[in-house]
Amino acid sequence: MEVEQYRTQLLLKRGELLGGTAAKPLQWTMENNSGRQGDMADQASGTNEVHIQLKLKQTDAKILQAIEDALRRIDEGTYGICRDCGEPIADARLDAIPWTRVCIACKEKQKA
Ligand SMILES: [Zn+2]
Repeated sequence: MEVEQYRTQLLLKRGELLGGTAAKPLQWTMENNSGRQGDMADQASGTNEVHIQLKLKQTDAKILQAIEDALRRIDEGTYGICRDCGEPIADARLDAIPWTRVCIACKEKQKA
């Protein structure tokens, strides 16, 4: 893919994340209010849903930051270059995760 196509992907994903985090809690509230209110089991599951929502938000925030960084690298002309080893990141990896900062080899090293 061309760099401009990655930019489009990144902007789309950013819009999705920004729109998604604002819209989701409203929907959860509506679902929780419909039907069996005051049920102990429902209250318990509601707490879990809040937990999941918070976790999702933390992940979203990390991805958003990575997307902002990737957009800046596109402007700087360094997009698609691994932050750690300086080698080009494989197209297949960029297609899957356009906001990634490191190549697959360095990612594997991070895990080890
Ligand atoms: Zn690397």
